[in-house]
Parts: sequence; structure tokens; C-alpha cells
Amino acid sequence: MPSGKTSPLKQKETACDLCGSRDYRLLFQCRGYPIMECRECGLVFTGSVMAPDDRESLYKNEYYVHAAGYAESIKRSAAAGNPEYDERVRLASKFSPQIPGTVLDVGCGSGGLLAAFKRAGWNCCGIEPSSDLSAYARDIAACEIYEGTIESTPLPQAAFDVISACHVLEHSASPHDFLQTCFRSLRDEGVLLVEVPDFGCYLSRKQGADWLPLYPDTHLYHFTISTLQRLLKATGFRPVRIRRYGGLGILSTQESDNSVKDAGHAKNIVEQSLCNVAKKRIFDARRYLYRIPAVKPFARYVYWHLMRMNEYISIYSIKSR
Ligand SMILES: [Zn+2]
Repeated sequence: MPSGKTSPLKQKETACDLCGSRDYRLLFQCRGYPIMECRECGLVFTGSVMAPDDRESLYKNEYYVHAAGYAESIKRSAAAGNPEYDERVRLASKFSPQIPGTVLDVGCGSGGLLAAFKRAGWNCCGIEPSSDLSAYARDIAACEIYEGTIESTPLPQAAFDVISACHVLEHSASPHDFLQTCFRSLRDEGVLLVEVPDFGCYLSRKQGADWLPLYPDTHLYHFTISTLQRLLKATGFRPVRIRRYGGLGILSTQESDNSVKDAGHAKNIVEQSLCNVAKKRIFDARRYLYRIPAVKPFARYVYWHLMRMNEYISIYSIKSR
């Protein structure tokens, strides 16, 4: 729980966001939150949630500071540029009907991805609930940033070639409504990029309630590739590219971010410090190995696709009807 000021948790009583069923089962408890699964379609969600007002204030202020240094680390990452952002721009451009076009980044944080789009010549705008980060993003990406959420921001219809929502959909009270809003705001054949933690990955299945990216206080949904693809199709999107990535930060390009973020959530700081030392050794070794041609793509293929050691998934979809 983020603070003692919040109202008691409310049991969710709504129908399944994907199939409409009300037939659920409890998978396990995670830090006091029930993690539930729809018996009909397999969609997994957090069964008790904070009141909407509590969640909103959490995102405005506390969310980015509840892991010490997290806000600073994502600002540094945005300012320094990040190969992962450039990769997202490259893939979005590959499928976009217009290059460069107009992009909206929902939950844009400190604006790193928008800055990468801007460098590639795109018209950019973003939505971000934290006033601190939206001010920062305005600076970094030199574009309009609306302070709020996709639910609270009036968006124009058929206005964007690309909409990205990285690590945002799982926070939404209704991912179905979220995706429908994206659908309306995209131009025909526009591209939607969604990134979420992969509840179906090896580490999640192995670690259960201890899997770090569950964050049951803020993550209301826990998608697998299958449930996310079905939700995208149900809201009019055609998935065209699925990427697996992340996973202990070993092959991630965002190692410094992960170390800071993980330390804030660590149950055992000593254990985490040792883990970070080990990680650093692996990163150092990796730097040398990656100089050999083809080692990097091969390592990623083995680690993410054969071993399924990813923790996150991103799906690029096209607005298709
Ligand atoms: Zn369902």
C-alpha cells in the first residue's frame, strides 16, 4: 500500500473486461491483494482496488517517488537517450501509414520516447499524470504534454498515426475502454504500441506472488500475450509484431534504471545489493561479448524466445476496421 491515507480497498464487482463473465477464481494473494483469473477467458486482474481518487493522487505525486530515485532515473534516461526508445521509433515507423507522422505517447513519463520521435522528425504530444514529469517532458521533447490520464484528456478523433502506451494499460480501470479510445483517436491503419509486463513469462510463473512486476497496488490487470492479443482484436486492432524483452535486466538496455527501481522495492537490501554486483559483472562481460558480430541478436533470441526469460511484452497493432 502506498500510504495510510487511502480508503479501504474495494472488491471489484464488474464483469470481465475481456469477455463479460463474472465467474472468477483466486490465483493467489500478493501483498494483501487478491490476484484473480476469469474462468471464462483467462484474463488476470487485481481483485481489490483502491478508490479512483486515491489512485489518481498516487500517480500525481507518490507513484514516482515511492521507489527512491525512480523519477530522477527516468529523467536521466530521457535526457541521455536510450537505444530502446530508438528501437520503438524504428518499429512504429515500419508500420505507420505516415513517416514521419503524428504520435501521441500516453503515460509519457519524462518524455524520453517522445524526444526520440522528435529527433526522427515526428509531430509529438503526450499525456502524463505527474506534474513534475510532464513539465520535464515538455522541456525534453519540446512538445505539448497534457497533464492527466487518457480518461481525463479530451482527445481528437482520427488524429494520430501512432499511439504508444508503454507500461500504462495495466494501470487502467478498463483496458477495453482505454483501447477503444486509442482506436477512435488513431487514423485508419494507424499503429498502436502497447507494452506491459508479461504475466505468462517464465519468471512470473516461477515466482508467483513474489514476481516484482506484479505491483498489485497499481497494476490492475496482468496480461499474457494471449489475453492482450485477444483484447486488441476485440477492440479493432490487428497485432502485427510481438516483442519479448527485459528479464532480470541481464540483457536489458536499461540496466541502471532497473537497479534503482528494484532497490526501492527490495525486501532484502543486502540480497539486492549482491544481485546488483552480479548484474554489473554480467553487464561488463556482455559489453565485450557484444562487440563480436551477431552475438547480441543471437543471445537475445536464445534468452527471450527460446528460454522465455523476458519479463515484458510489446505488441504493435494496426487499426483495422
Ligand atoms: Zn473473461
